[in-house]
Amino acid sequence: MPARLTVLSGPSGVGKGTVVAALRRLVPHVWVSVSATTRAPRPGERDGREYRFVDHDAFAQMIADDALLEWAEFAGNRYGTPRTPVQKHLSVDDPTLLEIELEGARQVRASMPDARFVFLAPPSVEELVDRLHGRGTESAEAVAARLARAEVEMAAASEFDHVVVNRDVEQAALEVAALVTADD
Ligand code: 5GP
Repeated sequence: MPARLTVLSGPSGVGKGTVVAALRRLVPHVWVSVSATTRAPRPGERDGREYRFVDHDAFAQMIADDALLEWAEFAGNRYGTPRTPVQKHLSVDDPTLLEIELEGARQVRASMPDARFVFLAPPSVEELVDRLHGRGTESAEAVAARLARAEVEMAAASEFDHVVVNRDVEQAALEVAALVTADD
């Protein structure tokens, strides 16, 4: 199989970013893909670190060039995984992690069925709603779009190989790290 590709998905607000940050500390040799997005940076986000922030034309060009392993629209913006860096890391057997939403995960499953698919779930739907409202970085419309999408994503949990519940960030990161670095 193409080495160690893990796809981490789960609804917006579940804490994927926080869990991935904890995972980076636990297993620094895991390579985490940097996605391209048309979304504007949030305060504290830096181009090339959290995302490559691009405009709509540049994103369309990446699609035209077939430069994305997968991509999707999410709450009014586009997000995609640059293909070449993923292939490069897999070719040297680096454990590799993509943190993407459901449509993208489905595309990766179609093209790379041997990858490992992990769903990060909230302890409860109420908690997810609280977190999305509490984040304070998005407009009311964006929060509503993310909530609607979260329902669809939650319903898809059974499509994944593993479900990790994010009750405690460190514990969830340990569980995901074990899956990302597992040998089978
Ligand atoms: P956010 O705007 O909160 O950073 O991300 C919104 C959603 O897009 C999250 O569910 C995140 O996992 C997802 N996402 C981030 N990068 C990618 C990507 O490259 N491809 C896809 N399909 N989804 C992504």
